[in-house]
Amino acid sequence: MSPLSSSYIDIGEQSWAPADPQTSFVAVFADGRALVALDHAHDPSVRAVLAASEKNLGVHLRRAYVPLEEIAQARIAGVAGRRGSDEANMQGHILDLIEQAQALGASDIHIDVSERITTVSLRVDGTLFKHATWTAEHGVRFLGACYAMADIANKSYSAARFLAARLAPREPRDKWAFPAGLEAVRMQFNPKTFGITYAVLRLLGSVKSTSTIEDLGFEPEQLQALQAFARRNKGLAIIAGPTGSGKSTTMATLLIRQREIDAASRRARTCFTIEDPPERRLPGAQQLVVPNTDTDEARASAFADAIRAALRSDPDVVMIGEIRDLITANLAVTASMTGHQVWSTLHCSSAHAIPLRLVDLGVDRTIVLGSDELQVAVGQILVPKLCNHCSRPLANEPPSQEIRALSAMLGHGARVPSPQGCDQCRHSGFKGRTVLAEVIRTDAAYLEVLAAKGIPAARKFCTERGEPSIDDIAKRKASRGEISAYTIPEVMEVSTLPDVASHPAIKVAS
Ligand SMILES: [Zn+2]
Repeated sequence: MSPLSSSYIDIGEQSWAPADPQTSFVAVFADGRALVALDHAHDPSVRAVLAASEKNLGVHLRRAYVPLEEIAQARIAGVAGRRGSDEANMQGHILDLIEQAQALGASDIHIDVSERITTVSLRVDGTLFKHATWTAEHGVRFLGACYAMADIANKSYSAARFLAARLAPREPRDKWAFPAGLEAVRMQFNPKTFGITYAVLRLLGSVKSTSTIEDLGFEPEQLQALQAFARRNKGLAIIAGPTGSGKSTTMATLLIRQREIDAASRRARTCFTIEDPPERRLPGAQQLVVPNTDTDEARASAFADAIRAALRSDPDVVMIGEIRDLITANLAVTASMTGHQVWSTLHCSSAHAIPLRLVDLGVDRTIVLGSDELQVAVGQILVPKLCNHCSRPLANEPPSQEIRALSAMLGHGARVPSPQGCDQCRHSGFKGRTVLAEVIRTDAAYLEVLAAKGIPAARKFCTERGEPSIDDIAKRKASRGEISAYTIPEVMEVSTLPDVASHPAIKVAS
């Protein structure tokens, strides 16, 4: 990645900077560097250009004083690095940015086009980092070119409309390709009241596409339960968690592992997946297309049709991206009842809420709570991992009531992030994320407790038979120094929210 390629700002082109020859005494880069010609550092016009750049870019420029030739070279390389400005050449710029984002492990690219400047930020491990600054005009042309590359029929881009599109090279039509591991980019363009556009490009299939299920952060006994289910021929496993909790990644990674184990044991099972849109490529699985439609109703119906098609295609394993409504819920349950292994996700607060949510959606209560179709319920959240280069012992923190309480709970291994961070963690104190999960076998004994006494009793029942809760896992990881001790109060606050103890599906006996 050349620092010159897309981050050079040609301030001579700006409406806010004088496009006079003096700009050749200065070269400004989006990362905040400015090269200033040694012999002209005190020219009033050079100082004016630098001041205007700082004001308009909202950054403090780090000045380096260099010979004039170096500036000339930097400007030539910078302008060339942008690969021209027309739409066709803009493609190279788009692919450069996507490649840079992927190399940094980003999940999303945020492009904020304001009246004067465009700010490009990357979300890495859940945190947004400023990546580059362009002119507003360049941002508008960049987004127009993104839309023109997209896989859609109507290609008229307007910064004034909400637009959604998907970027994925189609052979032989497209001559461009993504870097390895990236399958598609989902784009959302939002017009702004103040400014021009806020666009978000989500990189699909790029994040940790090579990670194994162990890397995700499940504990050994949880992996055992999940893999025991993966070996079975029928039943339903559902993963719950809030948006961005890594549900899809967990499901895809489990399926990849299952394919590998099947292959090693010469077991050939057919696997069909129905996702809208597919998050990434799953080797050996038949990933069905859900056609693009205009309305939510048409979308839901196309999704259900794709599931029905999968069920008519002699599947062994079926993966349904998400249970969103009664139709999908019933299809998932029916698929299990007719002898298939089914994986899906559900948007709800915890593993224990999964059976109740299915009943809420309208699935027959006796099937959910009184049969063995649902076999495994997983609830998960993602939390930042401590940077192991700069984290420090909790015991060294200035003593306070909170520190004493955490130390007593977590022991000597507990650690906290360094406030300054280090180069390894981009000075954030954290590096990567890990899953905090509960993996529950939803067998008859469990469902009986849940149906009769509600979630707190069901959670206690699981802990007692050796299925740790999200709290338990958080404490384990904090006492091993993998996650910050300060995470514990936050996790406990969320996981002890008053769950639906008075749910209509529960006949509270005590
Ligand atoms: Zn660090």
